[in-house]
Amino acid sequence: MAFESLSDKLQNVFKNLRSKGRLTEADVKAALKEVKMALLEADVSFKVVKQFMKSVQERAVGADVMTGLNPGQMVIKIVNEELVALMGSETTEIALRPAGEITVIMMVGLQGAGKTTTTAKLAGKLKSKGRVPLLAACDVYRPAAIQQLQINGEKQGIEVFSMGDKQSPVNIARAAVEHAKSRNMNVVILDTAGRLHVDEEMMDELVQIKEAVHVDQTILVVDAMTGQDAVNVSEMFNEKIGIDGVILTKLDGDSRGGAALSIRATCGKPILYVGMGEKLSDLEQFYPDRMASRILGMGDVMSLIEKAQATLDENKAKELEQKIKKAKFGFDDYLESMNQMKNMGGLSGILSMMPGMGGSKMKNLEGMIDEKALARNEAIILSMTPEERANPDILNPSRKKRIAAGCGVDIAEVNRLVKQFEQTRKMMKQIPGMTGGRGGKRGKF
Ligand code: GDP
Repeated sequence: MAFESLSDKLQNVFKNLRSKGRLTEADVKAALKEVKMALLEADVSFKVVKQFMKSVQERAVGADVMTGLNPGQMVIKIVNEELVALMGSETTEIALRPAGEITVIMMVGLQGAGKTTTTAKLAGKLKSKGRVPLLAACDVYRPAAIQQLQINGEKQGIEVFSMGDKQSPVNIARAAVEHAKSRNMNVVILDTAGRLHVDEEMMDELVQIKEAVHVDQTILVVDAMTGQDAVNVSEMFNEKIGIDGVILTKLDGDSRGGAALSIRATCGKPILYVGMGEKLSDLEQFYPDRMASRILGMGDVMSLIEKAQATLDENKAKELEQKIKKAKFGFDDYLESMNQMKNMGGLSGILSMMPGMGGSKMKNLEGMIDEKALARNEAIILSMTPEERANPDILNPSRKKRIAAGCGVDIAEVNRLVKQFEQTRKMMKQIPGMTGGRGGKRGKF
């Protein structure tokens, strides 16, 4: 889980502050010292921590005392605001030319950072915004890279331009832009070669491509799990070729978070997106304020809502609403809603964005949330006849016995599911808007 240990430590510091009632200046000082230690342990660069603590301290002892907040709340508020500022305050979008022109984006990074995967993820995002992207396979040194891009491009329904590995990357980039022009495509994303280390030859090649095709946006892909190395790599790339923004991959596996917190402050370029998993849909826009909220255990309800909106099919949701209105909500619909929940990252994915659920609390919960139970419910539902699924009220003991035997579970499991289903049905009736009436009172179930 991203930022797990930092999140835990900071939440502990604040919990201690809150439990103290009246705070002395010494209490606040001691808490800030712990915040400093937590950031250093999270692998945030020393220079950044020093600057961060200076800003926090100045505000905590200076004029920034707000009435209505006790000192503990004030410290949390200041740390939160400074974390947001550290990560760049505003969300930065990739600057694209108007849709009638071609925007050329060059993806750069070290081997293994996740560049090829991220290139395809980004193309998918731009496609969903109405752009027509072309992926160009300019990594001629790792033959598997071309194939990997082709496979990922196909999954995203996006064309991949390749000239094999016998042409120079500069020629391929030029030809790709021409190809996009002739087909009215408006974004060309160049997947360039990664190396194991930053070397002169690599940098020269990137500079040549950049000049040859007038690259609009150079985006560096770095692996969050490499911590300070990611920070050094960002500084180096920015110095040598000039970058416009960073995509931080593998944040899903980064329990420390040092790179995410240091990159903006050290190289001065914004984090545009973060990679949160291996699937092509696992790329999230980077919001400094939401990230700070997650770190401090204040939840990220906005991302949760957006995820729901992106996952839920509007037509299906309307259909479901109609069924509830007409008392036609059956087990097939229940199964459908369970699957949608799975698409949103399962229960644990949803819970991790809820307030108070950051850090290792999630880890404890993950053990308790039985994702397997969801699979078992699915098996039970699939053992029912279509008639039973559509009219759950006909489920009598003998039918339940048959269903239990059909999927190899105890009858108590079937009873539990039926009860759960009935509760869900009742709950849905009460959700405002679900039944069409204000407060859900007018609709008839
Ligand atoms: P490249 O050498 O930079 O092109 O790296 P690849 O795109 O081949 O990715 C290297 C590995 O990292 C692959 O196994 C990817 O699935 C994995 N990967 C990429 N992005 C993410 C991410 O955000 N999270 C996780 N968990 N894995 C990722």
